[in-house]
Amino acid sequence: MTKVIQIEKDLSVLDEAAEKLASGGLVAFPTETVYGLGANALSAPAVANIFVAKGRPQDNPLIVHISNTDMLSQIVKSVSPAAQKLMDTFWPGPLTIIFEKSDTIPMTVTAGLSTVAVRMPSHPVAQYLIEKSGVPVAAPSANLSGSPSTTRASHVIADLTGRVDYIIDGGACQVGLESTVLDMTGDVPQILRPGGVSLEELQAVLGEVAYEPALKDSRQVPKSPGMKYRHYAPKAELYLVEPQYTDELVKQLAVCRNQGKKTGVLCCGDTQYEADFKIDCGRDAQAYAQALFDALRQMDDLGAEVIFAEIPCDEGGIVPALMNRMLKASGGQVLAEGITTKIERL
Ligand code: AMP
Ligand code: MG
Repeated sequence: MTKVIQIEKDLSVLDEAAEKLASGGLVAFPTETVYGLGANALSAPAVANIFVAKGRPQDNPLIVHISNTDMLSQIVKSVSPAAQKLMDTFWPGPLTIIFEKSDTIPMTVTAGLSTVAVRMPSHPVAQYLIEKSGVPVAAPSANLSGSPSTTRASHVIADLTGRVDYIIDGGACQVGLESTVLDMTGDVPQILRPGGVSLEELQAVLGEVAYEPALKDSRQVPKSPGMKYRHYAPKAELYLVEPQYTDELVKQLAVCRNQGKKTGVLCCGDTQYEADFKIDCGRDAQAYAQALFDALRQMDDLGAEVIFAEIPCDEGGIVPALMNRMLKASGGQVLAEGITTKIERL
């Protein structure tokens, strides 16, 4: 049985869920990025249940969430001065740092890797829950594997009811995309997954920072095991639309109409397309990022068979993360000059 807890002013409504978390249960909770599905990171059987509940491939490691840096000593071998600088600057917040793992963390968490991913979320509900449970919390995104990540409790309820002990309803997530995953175990810090903290922000603190090559070249095997899977995909077919190809979008909508297909458009602003369903995701990339997963889920609920998603014009900041999720969700299908092409772009 899954119990849903609504957040009130007094966060002590979370105490029973925190107790369940510490004693081996599964609790879905809001963070500033997306909702997470948490288990006690020190308990291999509890963590194994996350993989079952989500249908997550066994080789995809989890991020360990903490509420204070004292917890780190149980999780990692050591903290370099550069990693310390990152923690001082970006924690709590949407940055996940990869460290060499300590022996206390079960291999189930890291999918057999000798490294471990750690993050300190800033969302007050996540912080309270972790602190109250008294244990580090392993938590991937709280969605069924492959489907769009969850940014509202209603998404988690749709995906995980009957599969977890508690779902905490803390409203809509602020960032809307997952954390940046940064590997600090090599010579040069490497972004394995773009996310809520941008390349420019990391460079300002660390100097040299690189994108992992596989992010730009699909022929290379990603270092972050999760990045090789199709992700975030709606049930409908999804095509991305570059800003300069809106004429082509109009044409394709007519083609779909003639074929009797229900169409949906994710728009940048209030645009005039003839589609069955339209959702305005906002003109700037930040607003679009926050709206994306909810919009994809809404389109599925509405029964759209083909979705066209306009790509915002911005650059930098959250854009590489947004493009990464949109390309994965669409399987790389991009509308250009009457055809769909596969592109990889950061
Ligand atoms: P999720 O929590 O579902 O957003 O996924 C966590 C992401 O972090 C996945 O892409 C994982 O592959 C990645 N990750 C977690 N632990 C590690 C690690 N030790 N090394 C590299 N990537 C990791
Ligand atoms: Mg995920």
